[in-house]
Amino acid sequence: MVTKKVYPFEDGNAEMKMLLGGKGANLAEMTRLGLPIPCGFTITTEACRAYYASGCIMPEELLQEIGQALTRIEEAQAAGFGDEQQPLLVSVRSGSVASMPGMMDTILNLGLNDATVLGLAARTGNEAFAYDCYRRFIQMFGDVVLGIDSIHFERLLEQNKRKYARASDQEITAEEFKELISNYKRLVEDRTGQSFPQNVHSQLKLAVEAVFRSWNNVRAKVYRKAYGIPDEQGTAVNIQAMVFGNLGNDSGTGVLFTRNPSTGVKELYGEYLLNAQGEDVVAGVRTPKDIAELHKEQPQVHEHLEELALLLEGHYRDMQDIEFTVEKGVLYLLQTRSGKRTAQASVKIAADLVEEGIIDQKEAIRRIEPAHLDQLLHRSIDYSMSPVPIARGLPASPGAASGRIALDSDTAEHWAKNGGKVILVTAETSLDDIHGIIAAEGVLTSRGGMTSHAAVVTRGMGTPCVCGCETLSINEELRSATIGGLTFQEGEEISLDASLGQVFRGSLSLNEPEITPELLKLLEYADTIRSLQIYSNADTPADAGKAREFGAEGIGLCRTEHMFFAGSRLPIVQAMILADSLEERQLHLDRLLPMQQSDFEAMFQSMDGLPVTIRLLDPPLHEFLPNLEQLKEREQQLALSPGTGEELEQVSNTIKKVYSLREVNPMLGLRGVRLGILYPEIYDMQVEAIFKAAERSLHKGVKVRPEIMIPLVGHPNELKQMRELVDNIAGQVMCGEFKGFSYKVGTMIEVPRAALLADSIAKYADFFSFGTNDLTQMTFGYSRDDAESGFMNTYMEQKVLNDNPFQVLDQDGVGKLIEWAVTQGRAVKPFLKTGICGEHGGERASILFCHEIGLDYVSCSPYRVPFARIAAAQAALNADMNRQRLDAEVV
Ligand code: PEP
Ligand code: MG
Repeated sequence: MVTKKVYPFEDGNAEMKMLLGGKGANLAEMTRLGLPIPCGFTITTEACRAYYASGCIMPEELLQEIGQALTRIEEAQAAGFGDEQQPLLVSVRSGSVASMPGMMDTILNLGLNDATVLGLAARTGNEAFAYDCYRRFIQMFGDVVLGIDSIHFERLLEQNKRKYARASDQEITAEEFKELISNYKRLVEDRTGQSFPQNVHSQLKLAVEAVFRSWNNVRAKVYRKAYGIPDEQGTAVNIQAMVFGNLGNDSGTGVLFTRNPSTGVKELYGEYLLNAQGEDVVAGVRTPKDIAELHKEQPQVHEHLEELALLLEGHYRDMQDIEFTVEKGVLYLLQTRSGKRTAQASVKIAADLVEEGIIDQKEAIRRIEPAHLDQLLHRSIDYSMSPVPIARGLPASPGAASGRIALDSDTAEHWAKNGGKVILVTAETSLDDIHGIIAAEGVLTSRGGMTSHAAVVTRGMGTPCVCGCETLSINEELRSATIGGLTFQEGEEISLDASLGQVFRGSLSLNEPEITPELLKLLEYADTIRSLQIYSNADTPADAGKAREFGAEGIGLCRTEHMFFAGSRLPIVQAMILADSLEERQLHLDRLLPMQQSDFEAMFQSMDGLPVTIRLLDPPLHEFLPNLEQLKEREQQLALSPGTGEELEQVSNTIKKVYSLREVNPMLGLRGVRLGILYPEIYDMQVEAIFKAAERSLHKGVKVRPEIMIPLVGHPNELKQMRELVDNIAGQVMCGEFKGFSYKVGTMIEVPRAALLADSIAKYADFFSFGTNDLTQMTFGYSRDDAESGFMNTYMEQKVLNDNPFQVLDQDGVGKLIEWAVTQGRAVKPFLKTGICGEHGGERASILFCHEIGLDYVSCSPYRVPFARIAAAQAALNADMNRQRLDAEVV
């Protein structure tokens, strides 16, 4: 079967992007709309693929099809390709499916040779113009087709101008261009051993081949990799009759955006140059004028452009980036496409287009790019001065920050209290760095990955954080940090772009985040579209308040261990853990109870009317223990000082106790529910605090909806036992008027066994919350702390894994367990509430997956909530579209 490889513009349309490329499809569409488009045709992407498949041979049939299409242009233009009196000149441009601006090649004025240039001169009555076109053509053809760098042609041009004392190209005479052309031709002969091709058909064949080849030039390959464009797609080639913007001052060329691409404001935005061809604008030799000037210089053209801009924007239902040329007062459009825009403009344009009735709310939500949202919701570096990063790490918590380096949390806190801005720079953080993290503008660590302590805590607080910066090393003695080969003393300034994982020297200026009225509008639209509920992870009333402000509909995870670490509580917690008897432990727990109770009261108050999921204590006990090295140092000191026997004995005992609590593999040791089973008095205290807080809040008129969550359950009996514990305490505390008070008891599903036995577990659970951090860790058998600072990079580089599973949910493995657990759980309890509270709850692809498998909610950090609201709406729209596609296929 012979398939058509060449489409005249009249035969295509906007839907044919895959075959005709973006530019070709739009030129065809504009031709169909009757707009002023120079006549032309498109060689398909399929032809390009066939060219590569055949080992780069131009098939005879393709050349014939090109010839036929060319005849149509000749007829329309009343000109002949290679005709010496009425020569037809064409442009040859690349045009891929996805926009790849400037990545591939273009040749203008093709069809000129020693004979046709005379015809062009005669036809236009402008000899200098004709020879200028010819020299431009040789230069472009020489560069793109013959591989002679443009710089060599530029040098000859400069020499020529110097020789005749010409300040600008416009002053060069025809005779001078002729001399320049001889020099150009000599250059071609010297470099290629052949004379410049005079046969116009050979010129065209070679140019088409060169554009095909430009699909695989280095910059195009790099661009494709960066934007995920498939290598096998190939480029289309557009061949079009030339129109000339350089035929005098009633001609020109320019670029026009239908709205301001930086701000999104509805105004024509662009620039143009009179008496110029497209490459003059790009080359930057002459300064283009603001499009508003055209209104004065050529009012009719400006008016016509305004009309066309409105028409194209209405037709494509989006802001357009339009290229145009004016030839002797007549306007031609050379291209239109959806214009690239800043984050701010993108949100404004989407919201405005809804207001103007051009698109509906769903379309506006569909168009929002996640990267744009990230930019808008966090501070960002002002890149106008093009700062160069000195080091890179993982973008662990988005945003930007600048400040003085502080090498430990105490210093960070101290400097911040005195009004300084600090960046906490450290190997890694632990629970006792919390005061330093709170004080810091940003955090930079050399170790740890996307779910390391620093990453999780900073994301929760909305503090920018770059983790795993391998070129960071710290010299504690000299109080200095070496970052990317540069050494900084503590106190010197650095900046972080944590959205990109980059570190800069010095204090850079920052752009503030912007929740504009337009963004608020889009978030409201999203709320009417999504079915997933958006909860937030929050450990403090302040975080809960933030989450609510950003639109969270509940707290999906309150990690109570973070409360244990606050302020003066640590010594009590440590004493509780080190207690020698139950009685002694109970004494310390009694002191902790009112503190926990007030924490929960404040949380309930912040979330009045909304569910608050409280997870009972999870981390390994040893994380709370005193520092062993410090204890040993103290022991040595005491041993050398007479009369300190009692303290020495105490310290030695503590050391023994710390040793006895040490585990070989704490992540798989005494944590989560195991802690509750071995030391039920700890969970007793927490549950009592929750219900006492509930009771007091209810008295104050607060609507309390506690959901008590048991971590790390792997066996149904674990949950059974803990549920009994919770129900017992609830029964004791909630008596009188609050008897029968409704609360939920559920479990995290973060051990694969729990997912596999979800039906048995569901018997004792009102809800499942998938802790995908641990579930990923335990399904892969990767320690999350070690993987990300160790082998994960190599795994990604070698494409063993496409994504870091601690960032993007592994749908094939971990996802399968989740899906299974949801189905099994709901088989036992059809209305079992299900959600996710691991770090994946704020990641777009993972949110799409959660929607697909029918979870009730995702829970993410407060600052991620607006992002999750939009992503959940996009998930619902995606699912709708897939359903419609399937329905259509069935029909
Ligand atoms: C999880 O494992 O996904 C989780 C939320 O718990 P944590 O990160 O506190 O272990
Ligand atoms: Mg966990």
